[in-house]
Amino acid sequence: MSQMTGKNSITSKQFNRGLLLKLIATQTCRTRIDLSKATGLTKMTVTNIISEFIQQGLVAESEEEQTEVCGRNPILLEISEKAPRVIGLLIFRDRIEAVLCTLSMEMLAAESIHFDSLTEEQLYVYCFSVIDRLLEKEKNILGIGVAAIGPVDIWKGVILNPPRFYGIQNVPILEKLKKRYAFPIFFDHDNNSAALAERLFGIGKNVQDFLFLGISNGIGSGIVSGGEIYHSHRGIPPEIGHISIDRRGPLCVCGNRGCLELYANTDIVLKKLRAAAGMRASCDGDSRAPVRASSAKLCQPPENASFAGFCRMPQTAETEAVFEEMLQDVSAALVTSVNILHPEMIVLGHDCIDWDERHVRRLEELVNNRKVVHDQSLLPVRKAHFGKEAQLIGAACNVADQMFKGALIL
Ligand SMILES: [Zn+2]
Repeated sequence: MSQMTGKNSITSKQFNRGLLLKLIATQTCRTRIDLSKATGLTKMTVTNIISEFIQQGLVAESEEEQTEVCGRNPILLEISEKAPRVIGLLIFRDRIEAVLCTLSMEMLAAESIHFDSLTEEQLYVYCFSVIDRLLEKEKNILGIGVAAIGPVDIWKGVILNPPRFYGIQNVPILEKLKKRYAFPIFFDHDNNSAALAERLFGIGKNVQDFLFLGISNGIGSGIVSGGEIYHSHRGIPPEIGHISIDRRGPLCVCGNRGCLELYANTDIVLKKLRAAAGMRASCDGDSRAPVRASSAKLCQPPENASFAGFCRMPQTAETEAVFEEMLQDVSAALVTSVNILHPEMIVLGHDCIDWDERHVRRLEELVNNRKVVHDQSLLPVRKAHFGKEAQLIGAACNVADQMFKGALIL
């Protein structure tokens, strides 16, 4: 978008309506008085807007809050049952998911299609199919939010050239969806969307600056800066997975060497864990085995085990060494990002949700020991509130956020 383009500015009334709705939907404020205090708007302004919301079926008054104090109890406000719903669409390497949510991000229904091969045409068919199934359940829809694996062009709504995506490139997904559906449709990167969900409704609700890190078969990130998702002018999201942790390391598909993704993506680490567990099993009885398995069952290397599976198993020196190496690698790239961004929190998503809490604490320790600013303040590392659903809920949040900013008028 050119800097010279004229802008139809959002009126202050639209802005105030969006803000009040956001505070109610996120349960930050439950009463008119709280809304007035939180926004600095007069009680009259708040009362007028809430009356409009109630008339429109956006907000409902719930049962009075029981308090010990004498006098009238305040009436609690919540998003109405009659309020429009939002649809989130998530495009991953191995599946397409769609979710139907309230404006408070309660999940009402979900649909998904899994695949191990895909053409561009199939991608559209699958997207339409999961959305259509949700539309059969609900007609009162505010809009559709899309979240996709990167790299993407956020402004054009195009999935550019994700590695390991069956050779599919330059997918104009936003344009295709807009041709088929009459709703407002918004597009963003999957980890930006996850960061948005955590910022609006999750662990980052009261955090102005944080970094979302998602580790799966790729490693991605989303940045919240000054309370907003960071969007570059070029529309390309941050790619923490391609921070080099060894400039002499192996060549990455991106052209750089020693990218974090080459060492610490889930597939690679699970492969190392299987090898570590397998060595333990096959070496049982072998003098080189430092840890003896106590039963035959424990000797079986878990072929399809996830991080959660490995964390449930009794730990050995070998498997712990693999986890430690992964955490050292991840912390190296994280510290580089932390020294540039100085976030208040790091939020972990995707397969990090399966990590044991002691691995999260170890990562926190490594990052805090190595970051350049040592000012006694701990940089917390936390798992996402929405867990593995953060990207999917985030897709739906791409619509809600536009409503909360006053850009979608009802
Ligand atoms: Zn790379």
